[in-house]
Amino acid sequence: MSWRSIISGILFYRVVLCLWIIVIFPGLIMAQSMTEFKPFVPPVGYDAASSKADSILAKMSVQQKVELIGGHNFFFIRGYPEYGVPELYLSDATAGVHIRKQLNNQLEKSVAFPAPVNLAATWNTDLAREVAQSIGEECRAGGIAVLLGPGMNICRISQCGRNFEYFGEDSFLAARMIENFVVGVQSTGTIATLKHFVCNNTDYMRRRSNSIVDERALHEIYLPAFKAGVDAGAIAVMTSYNQLNGEWCGQSNYVIEQLLRKDLGFKWLVMTDWWSTYDPEKIIKSGQDLDMPGAPGRGDTTFDKLGDIYVQTSALRLLDEGKVSEADVNRMAKAILTTEAAMGLLDRPVKDASYLGNFSRHEEIALQEAREGIVLLRNEHNVLPIEKSGKKRILLTGEFATKLPSGGGSAHVDGYDNLAMLDALKAEFGDNIEYAETPGDGKVKSADVILVSVGTNDSEGWDRPFDLPKETDEKVLHYAELNSNVVVIVNSGSGVSMTKWNGKVAGIIYAWYPGQIGNKALAEILSGKTNPSGKLPITIEKQFADSPGSSYIPNGGQPYTGARNDLDQIISVYNIEYKEGVFVGYRWYEAKKIEPLYHFGFGLSFTTFEITGLHVSNATPKKSDTVTVKFNVKNTGSVAGAEVAQLYVEELKPTVPRPVKELKGFSKIFLKPRESKTVRLFLTEKDFSYWNTVRHEWYANTGGFNILVGVASDDIRQSVKVTLSD
Ligand code: BGC
Repeated sequence: MSWRSIISGILFYRVVLCLWIIVIFPGLIMAQSMTEFKPFVPPVGYDAASSKADSILAKMSVQQKVELIGGHNFFFIRGYPEYGVPELYLSDATAGVHIRKQLNNQLEKSVAFPAPVNLAATWNTDLAREVAQSIGEECRAGGIAVLLGPGMNICRISQCGRNFEYFGEDSFLAARMIENFVVGVQSTGTIATLKHFVCNNTDYMRRRSNSIVDERALHEIYLPAFKAGVDAGAIAVMTSYNQLNGEWCGQSNYVIEQLLRKDLGFKWLVMTDWWSTYDPEKIIKSGQDLDMPGAPGRGDTTFDKLGDIYVQTSALRLLDEGKVSEADVNRMAKAILTTEAAMGLLDRPVKDASYLGNFSRHEEIALQEAREGIVLLRNEHNVLPIEKSGKKRILLTGEFATKLPSGGGSAHVDGYDNLAMLDALKAEFGDNIEYAETPGDGKVKSADVILVSVGTNDSEGWDRPFDLPKETDEKVLHYAELNSNVVVIVNSGSGVSMTKWNGKVAGIIYAWYPGQIGNKALAEILSGKTNPSGKLPITIEKQFADSPGSSYIPNGGQPYTGARNDLDQIISVYNIEYKEGVFVGYRWYEAKKIEPLYHFGFGLSFTTFEITGLHVSNATPKKSDTVTVKFNVKNTGSVAGAEVAQLYVEELKPTVPRPVKELKGFSKIFLKPRESKTVRLFLTEKDFSYWNTVRHEWYANTGGFNILVGVASDDIRQSVKVTLSD
């Protein structure tokens, strides 16, 4: 072999290697990157932070410690400058910074991101981290030390007014999004607060409800996302308004000491939700650390009228009476100070105005969130995308055409430069767009496409009906009779009834709440500039009665309880029995064989994907093994797009009633036309396990399991059997 051929051989392999690194390897990495995850590590370790807290506590009087363990001025934790402890501001939440105009020193503006449920619909964990990091940066810009989010209760019923703030119905999907959210927020030096702990799954009379939940459902459905948040390094948790099995969560030793601290291993700051506790002695003994919002003491709130329910105003008396000890008070104060010290808040200013310069990037990320979270549910005769050219007449009408829909309550974010649907469509389609509030039949008939906006105004504080107003349904039906190209755009925080017109319209787009810029993404999807890739993080039932827990409102009751009625917790507590146990969302519909209107994990694209080559590293794994599941995803169409490959596990002969299958892995893959990528997902013993109520721990049976890979819970493309042994 000549030198020349050796050198050219080396060169050839170098080129191949470079190509592999540049072109092929990133593909592999990309498919895997969603599964790689590094938890947050606080800048000051637990032990160092805890001894710092001890040294501060040693200088504080009992009176000062008692003042510290309740909130201050509604949204603050008291500061003690004499000991180097700053006053800290806490602010909401998961869709961006909620600016409290009544307070001083607020941010001038904050980006309104699409609703968190839209983030869940992206199934993009990297994006969850970026969105959260952006919100964390806005907190830093605004001097906010503690973000009162992520909200993360499981969507158990479509009617819950706060579903928009959460991450859907599935504990695995929510867990993966939450862990990334936590890391994103806290990487900026802002504390993330996991809320609301726990089983706060309705806002109907939220302060009066008692969630009755069995042990398995608690561990399999309602705790995993919190566990993921804790493991990801979240250093604050907020307890919820409701009771769990007869005890108010914020003052329940079982909820805080047992579930949160012992079972989930949480060691940092626990705070109450605002006015959610009633017995100071119990609060102090429950493992709770911070009673929010503290004692306003003005006598002008419903809660002041309940008497001395505040820790701050009762602790000294309880100490005198010997009902609590100074050690109890110290424990609470120490948790607050340790958490503050760990995040470095005793060593640096909270506020960093330089982050203001990142807001336009945050807006870009918000736009990307909408692009990837909007779900295309129906696209008959390829009504979408709408070609821009020619004399196309696109008629826009309906509820949110000119006003921006958004969720209400503490999670509401005003945003700035808010882009209404009509303006976004005009920017995309120019003169082809015509808007009419109440279009006549002639206009409807002659339009090439009709875009009809429908939806709900969901809010904290109450639930809302699953059904849309009768007139809305009638209008959609009427337009569909006159024109075969009706596309309905739904803005809502959760499922709504579409059964009446689903089969009659050409297209349906589920667009959640868009935030300030999300309507641009909607317009891009309508024109085909963006290929939709969102997948439902919830099941949408045909009728509310089909869903688990559908009879939770007492006979004759209305979901809307009014803005303040939920404060009447003393009138009576009513039970909400989670009779469905672990069968929540698709787990319910599949087990009961009830066909929903749209399945969990479903969402259309303008291209097509193929999944092939499913292979497991070991078909007879031991419980201690990690099984690598490998498959290829190919874009078989002619436009670029992204597919969410979903991995479900089905136990073949369960010894307790188990869901037909459960999500245990997913990966969002971006593919050019004809491109394919290899995906690797990993399964461990936990992924085959259920919560065993005899052992009180996760337990995997030995025996057969199917590994199912698909693009929606009802669209499984490949399966392979594994047999697990001890
Ligand atoms: C909500 C919490 C929120 C708090 C402070 C309460 O009404 O339930 O989610 O963080 O208010 O705004």
